[in-house]
Amino acid sequence: MNIILLGPPGAGKGTQASRLVAERGMVQLSTGDMLRAAKDAGTPVGLQVRDIMARGELVSDAIVSALIGERLDSLKEEAGGDTGPGVIFDGFPRTAAQAEALDLLLAERGQQLDHVVELTVDEAALTERIVGRYTCAKCGEGYHDRFKQPAEAGVCDVCGSTEFKRRPDDTAETIATRMAIYRGETAPILPFYDARGLVAQVDGMAEIGQVTQAIESILDR
Ligand code: AMP
Repeated sequence: MNIILLGPPGAGKGTQASRLVAERGMVQLSTGDMLRAAKDAGTPVGLQVRDIMARGELVSDAIVSALIGERLDSLKEEAGGDTGPGVIFDGFPRTAAQAEALDLLLAERGQQLDHVVELTVDEAALTERIVGRYTCAKCGEGYHDRFKQPAEAGVCDVCGSTEFKRRPDDTAETIATRMAIYRGETAPILPFYDARGLVAQVDGMAEIGQVTQAIESILDR
């Protein structure tokens, strides 16, 4: 089963993808995570995308589509040529060209898309969600200044690490750019999938566990 989680920045795509990974053994493919890893490792791709990401703009369709293609190939190899456990696309596709590229990448590997889950959110609440969020630097567990502090201040609930990090692009200025790009380039791909009967909406403002349940019931349909 291959699904796309679609929604504006801060809608909870990453959070929900991690929960589906834990509960269903699916694989999360986040182009944002891949690009951040490339940037941190100082690879040629990382150097190429660093400034674009800092501004909250989109990197080229060719770069992200290539990253996804490589990951799909390695997943297939790990699964011994089988289709594997199923993929959650998180933050990809973000443009019409990427949506077309994904169709091709899947078809070339004998796979298809099963669901596109749109996380609907109150845009006014997103800035607060995004500027307050941070993660454990060691295990990646997500926290929030207002909504989810560790039980013991400064110590990760999951792994006990005392180091945390914030994304450099989670600032009020870049959020405005990222939202505008979502509205102008990403949301318009929904009709493309809707015409194929793939889109289901989930209220992304509900409590985290309820959102997961709603997504699971779509996958179990
Ligand atoms: P994210 O973690 O999904 O919010 O992505 C962080 C940043 O990485 C975005 O603001 C873009 O600069 C870049 N990025 C991630 N995914 C894509 C994509 N599918 N297409 C273009 N740029 C992307």
